[in-house]
Amino acid sequence: MNKRIAIIGAGISGLALSYALRNAGYEVVVFEARSRAGGPIHTFERDGYRIETGPHSLLMRHQSVADLLDELGLTDDIVDADANAERRFIVRNGEPVPLPSSPIEAITTPLLSKAGRLRVLAEPFIGRTAEGAIDETLASFVARRLGPEFLEYLVDPFVGGVWAGDPHRLSAQHSFPTLVELERSGGSIAIGALKKKLSKSSDDDTIPRRLISFRDGMKTLVDALSEPLGDDLRLETPVRKLRRDDDGWRVIFARGKARRGETFDAVVSTIPPDALARLEWENVDPPRPAIDELARMPYAPCCVVSLGIERELVGHKLDGFGCLVPRVEQFHILGSLFVSSMFPGRAPDGRVLLSVFIGGARQPELCDADDQTLVEMARHDLGRLLDLRGAAEFSHITRWDRAIPQYDVGHQVFLDSIAELEEELPQIYFAGNYRDHIGLPNILRESRGHFRRIDDELG
Ligand SMILES: Cc1cc2nc3c(=O)[nH]c(=O)nc-3n(C[C@H](O)[C@H](O)[C@H](O)COP(=O)(O)OP(=O)(O)OC[C@H]3O[C@@H](n4cnc5c(N)ncnc54)[C@H](O)[C@@H]3O)c2cc1C
Repeated sequence: MNKRIAIIGAGISGLALSYALRNAGYEVVVFEARSRAGGPIHTFERDGYRIETGPHSLLMRHQSVADLLDELGLTDDIVDADANAERRFIVRNGEPVPLPSSPIEAITTPLLSKAGRLRVLAEPFIGRTAEGAIDETLASFVARRLGPEFLEYLVDPFVGGVWAGDPHRLSAQHSFPTLVELERSGGSIAIGALKKKLSKSSDDDTIPRRLISFRDGMKTLVDALSEPLGDDLRLETPVRKLRRDDDGWRVIFARGKARRGETFDAVVSTIPPDALARLEWENVDPPRPAIDELARMPYAPCCVVSLGIERELVGHKLDGFGCLVPRVEQFHILGSLFVSSMFPGRAPDGRVLLSVFIGGARQPELCDADDQTLVEMARHDLGRLLDLRGAAEFSHITRWDRAIPQYDVGHQVFLDSIAELEEELPQIYFAGNYRDHIGLPNILRESRGHFRRIDDELG
């Protein structure tokens, strides 16, 4: 008889793993507390605008991810980002400045002062220090290698946009392991990168990068992974308790007011650590300190303010991916994506769609503002940055109280807790963005690794 596996959580981690396990012949049931799958990944249409509530794109740079999309029959649904989307703007002195896209531009960019640019060029000559051996902050790592201006004007806005994070707290080693590894292997980032390029191994999975979405938005990916599950995707079914029985794990879940249970050979938890800490356990003594420790992992909140605007009200050409704001520039917003410039079909003719991100680890308190205040903050900052000269005709706010886990200095203690839980709890496995990196490409790739691990043990 096929082994039965319960997956708790139908975010992209749970769905991708369910896909791999089912293909290998396991019976899989996915339990999801909310009324829809996908976690933050969701697209909806209103007034002719196509709104994303979370990720707006997927950076495809691994063959395994391209193969997965192909297997899911999504190849024809893929839309590549407009060529202009390669251009990204960063704010300096209150103005969006294009990020250099060629070596010549890098030498002349007004984004960094002459001294700042020379400091970057000196990177290969900066020796490693003892700091490299410890868990140092990203800010310390970048300032040490590339200089304080590079930190302020490139890394700070980038991690604000991607991690909703603070480089003075994020761990270099855990949030950007590749950079740290380049320094370790080459003595400098530049030499490490060169060495890596020259020694490209044949099993390297990387392909030329493509920034993509789908014709109907990011939800397409969630639908494609969810549909094969049919009734085995149980929405509005939060798991409450795990009981160890002689014949496996009894998963006890809520269906409306009732509690029911089903027995499985193994359980994969992809729910965030705070939700894990609320699970009850029976007939087993889980390592409570490890669960409690894990629940202390910091998360940053983030609000996504989507604005539909008449094209003629925006002075900026919007010829790019979007605009990121360094902390030193003192705006409210972390940045804005030029959504309708990136992909076709995101706004009606003569209109543009912008997504503005507010909060993050930088200014979490801003997420407490009411909807009207958030829209006003976005409008005010876009007025200064993009010459927005009027009100949006459409606005929508998505609030994520615990948007993104922060791999801050000390993150190793959480990874150790996960390892301890897997060691102590037989046939319970852990996956999710609190462990596998926050980006969709990493999560999709890591799901293959989790699959192999589980299959090796159960198969
Ligand atoms: C605003 C925003 C923008 C982002 N932009 C990008 C981007 O552009 N590119 C990118 O690569 N990444 C982006 N990310 C990050 C990425 O979306 C996430 O890291 C990823 O979706 C997390 O997936 P997950 O499955 O690990 O977790 P989740 O999606 O959080 O899944 C966990 C699921 O568990 C469910 N759950 C909780 N408790 C229970 C329970 N007791 N029983 C059953 N179910 C339960 C939850 O409802 C949830 O659906 C963004 C994230 C946010 C919030």
